[in-house]
Amino acid sequence: MKAIRVHAFGGPDVLKLEEISALQPAAGQILVKIHAAGVNPADTYARTGNYAVLPQLPYTPGSDGAGVIESLGEGVTKVKPGDRVYVAKSISGTYAEYALALESQVHRLPENVSFAQGAGVFIPYGTAYHALHHQAKAHGSETVLIHGASGGVGTAAIQIARALGLTVFGTAGTAKGLDLIKREGAHQVFDHSKAGYQESILKATGGKGVDIILEMLANVNLGADLKLLAPYGRVIVIGSRGDVTITPRDIMSRRAAILAFTLWAITDAEAADIHAGLIAGLENGTLRPVVGSELPLKDAAQSHIDVMKPSGAAGKIVLIP
Ligand code: NAP
Repeated sequence: MKAIRVHAFGGPDVLKLEEISALQPAAGQILVKIHAAGVNPADTYARTGNYAVLPQLPYTPGSDGAGVIESLGEGVTKVKPGDRVYVAKSISGTYAEYALALESQVHRLPENVSFAQGAGVFIPYGTAYHALHHQAKAHGSETVLIHGASGGVGTAAIQIARALGLTVFGTAGTAKGLDLIKREGAHQVFDHSKAGYQESILKATGGKGVDIILEMLANVNLGADLKLLAPYGRVIVIGSRGDVTITPRDIMSRRAAILAFTLWAITDAEAADIHAGLIAGLENGTLRPVVGSELPLKDAAQSHIDVMKPSGAAGKIVLIP
């Protein structure tokens, strides 16, 4: 089988397409034929070797994927060969023609969702769902600012927040991104590349501030975010790529909170809640993963360059084996 292999941590060029031995599922394991693999920023952090959770070398990257059950190890009862599934982490990595997974790592992919869309379910939608439901404990009557709404997590968050009834503000940094987030349901959109856009956001709330901010780039925005919050507002830090200065009095005066998490550390109960909610939303059409670009598996290096471009996101990047 073909797989992307990493033999040494480094730049995108360490991602090599290789022919490796076929995988066999041991007891309790499932072999999935991967039809599409999702590319996430975290895949690039791991590839550099400078990240909290590192795989052992050599390895095949990828936590997200979608495909069809190929074969089962002894004792597996949750799925059967031929079932369509999305993968939420795996044993062997999803940038490959096949991946081994545990029963807990495969989830039913409804018929109305393509494999390319399925490859964009776990990390983007799981993160957005966890941020809104478990961290922010969002209510339908609230206003959320999705700060970085044009990427994988952002578009997922727009759809989930709209399904919950929230008033949704979103930001993007390009005309294409702004069009996309309007189309996905943001009530009001703002360009985070334009000076003074934060004042426009505050004005759009009548000066009250927003109840929730989902923050994709905290190292740039956290200090200013705190000044955009309503009383009892919450900032949920989802992404950050460096340090930032904040004014603690902005939190004190609003009785506000800064919350943060990594999806790797969710509990089994939270994971069960996330997958139940996501599968229902995919099935009833309120959740519609946006595929921005599809690249052949051999172009994994290019996909890592694309996903780390500072601006210009438009949905998910997926690899097709
Ligand atoms: P993505 O698809 O690459 O999207 C990146 C987003 O950030 C785009 O919407 C981009 O907008 C936006 N952005 C760029 N400059 C910005 C700025 N100055 N202010 C606000 N937003 C800005 O990435 P993703 O998959 O959505 O992930 C987003 C971040 O969350 C990444 O840093 C990722 O590592 C992190 N993340 C964390 C977790 C976790 O467990 N905590 C899970 C998933 C992702 P434009 O391109 O339109 O400018």
